[in-house]
Amino acid sequence: MSAVNKVLIVGGGIGGLCAAIALRRKGIEVDLIELKSEWTVYGVGIIQQSNVVREMARLGVLDGYLDAAYAFEDVAIYGPAGQQLARIPGQRLAGPEYPANVGISRLALHKVLSETALELGARVRLGLSVESLADQGDSVDVLFTDGSRGDYDLVVGADGLFSRVRHLLFGDSYTPRFTGQAVWRYNFPRAPQIDHLANYQSAEGNAGLVPLAGDLMYLFLTSHEPSNPWMDPATLAEQMRQRLQGFTGLIGELRDQISDSSQVVYKPMEVVFVDEPWYRGRVLLIGDAAHATTPHLGQGAGMAIEDAIVLSEELTGDGGVEQQLQRFMARRFERCKYISESSILAGDKEMQHDREFDRIGLVKQMLARTAEPI
Ligand SMILES: Cc1cc2nc3c(=O)[nH]c(=O)nc-3n(C[C@H](O)[C@H](O)[C@H](O)COP(=O)(O)OP(=O)(O)OC[C@H]3O[C@@H](n4cnc5c(N)ncnc54)[C@H](O)[C@@H]3O)c2cc1C
Repeated sequence: MSAVNKVLIVGGGIGGLCAAIALRRKGIEVDLIELKSEWTVYGVGIIQQSNVVREMARLGVLDGYLDAAYAFEDVAIYGPAGQQLARIPGQRLAGPEYPANVGISRLALHKVLSETALELGARVRLGLSVESLADQGDSVDVLFTDGSRGDYDLVVGADGLFSRVRHLLFGDSYTPRFTGQAVWRYNFPRAPQIDHLANYQSAEGNAGLVPLAGDLMYLFLTSHEPSNPWMDPATLAEQMRQRLQGFTGLIGELRDQISDSSQVVYKPMEVVFVDEPWYRGRVLLIGDAAHATTPHLGQGAGMAIEDAIVLSEELTGDGGVEQQLQRFMARRFERCKYISESSILAGDKEMQHDREFDRIGLVKQMLARTAEPI
């Protein structure tokens, strides 16, 4: 198999954009297609931990990214009334001059990544997907949904949980599974004491406060929704307040201010893990398309970003595509499987109300494992 000079990335989310940036920095030609005709993301925030800050530095976007983010150090875990149970100091993996962790609005992250990808020469087409992929051995013949065609050395499916590329590769072998839980989110002006990631545990679910900017934070809550009910959008504020009844302290105060159902972002948790190599021939899956998990450890996007960097390193290493993708898998599979399974475990333990489960220990273990080089 010949070297990879021209790549098609399917999906312009976090993983696809980071892959576009990383590959362009290595001089590889990149076409990126995105299903949405308006290239926006929904406006909630995201936690990015030390390993992600380190990879953002390697991606060469750290300064713009930090300008758009809220930098913080520690992760604290509290009981439902706000009593501190643990405080885990941040690890400055990007270097002593950079913060350990950040919270950033998804919109701001998308702006930094999409502008950088375009500046570096990625060719982006919106409102487009793949109809079919024909792997010819030394290239992939792609038929796009607008009837046009393209020829690529590698196709990267970064098209998320309901990946079309995954379907084209593996049929219905891997379909998303509802875990039994959902996540609720709501933005607030940042409270001065929320200068760190604050997790609050209760028997009914976990809540958290994530600083996103000097004047912005968001509250998240996980809840057990066994039947995956349809939620009437007009009732979301009331339903979120109900599910926060077990909390007092700051979370209790904020709960009473949740009034605008249109600002509540509700999402059932769905997961998928491709339990075999994420490629066939010259078509590869990265990010949620290969390993979407629950947000309990705040590492889903982190794993997608790491996938992108490792891919760019391996594609410019020795050997043919098969060897390059084998090396990619060797560096990614177990790490992503650990994050995927540990995140799902944390959610299962919440649903079982298992008070013996050492959640703090799991968070510490995850931080130690993700601090290891990729
Ligand atoms: C509630 C919640 C909270 C989370 N919080 C965190 C967190 O704090 N920290 C963290 O690291 N992770 C978090 N995650 C996980 C994180 O959001 C995902 O892991 C991350 O977005 C995966 O990126 P991706 O690029 O692989 O997929 P996506 O972000 O899903 O992007 C896929 C892109 O592909 C496009 N697309 C889809 N189908 C097609 C198609 N057929 N053709 C072309 N384009 C297509 C989509 O429109 C989208 O733009 C959270 C997830 C959830 C659900």
